Amino acid sequence: MTKKLNRPIYVTQPALPPLEEFADYLRQIWDSKILTNNGPFHQQFEEELAEYLGVKYLSVFSNGTLALVTALQALRITGEVITTPFSFVATTHSLWWNNIKPVFVDIEPEYFNLDPEKIESAITPQTTAIMPVHVYGNPCNVDKIQRIADTYGLKVIYDAAHAFGVTVNGNSILNYGDLSILSFHATKTFNTIEGGAIICHDKKTKQRIDFLKNFGFADEVTVVAPGINAKMNELQAAYGLVQLKHVDEYIDKRKSIAGIYRNMLNNVNGLRMLNDIPGVRHSYTYFPVLFEEKSYGVTRDEVYEMLRRNNINGRRYFYPLISQFPTYRGLASAKPENLSIGSLIANQVICLPIYPDLEEKYVIQLCKLLTKK
Ligand SMILES: *Cc1c(COP(=O)(O)O)cnc(C)c1O
Repeated sequence: MTKKLNRPIYVTQPALPPLEEFADYLRQIWDSKILTNNGPFHQQFEEELAEYLGVKYLSVFSNGTLALVTALQALRITGEVITTPFSFVATTHSLWWNNIKPVFVDIEPEYFNLDPEKIESAITPQTTAIMPVHVYGNPCNVDKIQRIADTYGLKVIYDAAHAFGVTVNGNSILNYGDLSILSFHATKTFNTIEGGAIICHDKKTKQRIDFLKNFGFADEVTVVAPGINAKMNELQAAYGLVQLKHVDEYIDKRKSIAGIYRNMLNNVNGLRMLNDIPGVRHSYTYFPVLFEEKSYGVTRDEVYEMLRRNNINGRRYFYPLISQFPTYRGLASAKPENLSIGSLIANQVICLPIYPDLEEKYVIQLCKLLTKK
């Protein structure tokens, strides 16, 4: 009999940088009194982050959602945008905030990313862009998506909130599409408490993005667009600089937890995990597991409740589908018949706890609960 844990385990817990290292930066900020507005740490963070990620241009933001909203503004996207229902709501909300109509297209059954085979039939004269998500950090089929975008003259904006540090054969996944956005929220692999970034490929685009995140100011007296305030402050930029020194450790620890899950849950009937992809460096932001009721024996929700009774809090990411929320369910593309794979996966998935400080013994205990039933 496995004992109930004496303290709750959550799906994630943020990794904080060593306090003494951060304190050095704080002292510098207290001396300089520069708190925000493209200060020295903001500039240094953008440089070091771009280098770490292997991208050309990057602009940091106060959060990932404002990065998404601003990315759409930067490219002047209007009309309709094709997107996935299997994501965190912010993906679709960013379209709504830009008065853009989301058009949901189903996901593919292997890694649950937007299915490129289904994109073309959703294109209309109003379509201006595709907004896919590298869900759980697994890369979309970027080549196929780009081919479609080129054929129809569409922009591609990747929501790469889960894909920090993800590379394919050594090349950052963030180098694909017109723009990519990252989130540095506390729950993500790399956090600056709250934060985000837009990745772009040329200097002019970065300049436009930098204007837009600072009210549209190009200089003291010139406002070029109705911009927003989405700047990252100096404390968070400094915190990010310290985090950057440790993020490889964070990713390695996450990877080793994923390894334990893989070993222990390998042969459980009706339980499916997503394999790592050869040539890909993964972010291990989530560890999704699917429960197929018929072969596993109990429903996903029963598993979820059983874990909760044992003080383990997984999350049903991403359930319900975004297309099921009241704001969006009236759209023609939101019909469940149009999204059959997404609906199926949303009803089978639980993301298991994964974070750098998660102790092995809890992972093992959790696996035993899932194996014995
Ligand atoms: C976390 C997340 C966001 C939003 O990022 P915030 O930094 O929390 O605003 C957007 N899209 C996806 C897929 C996410 O997981």
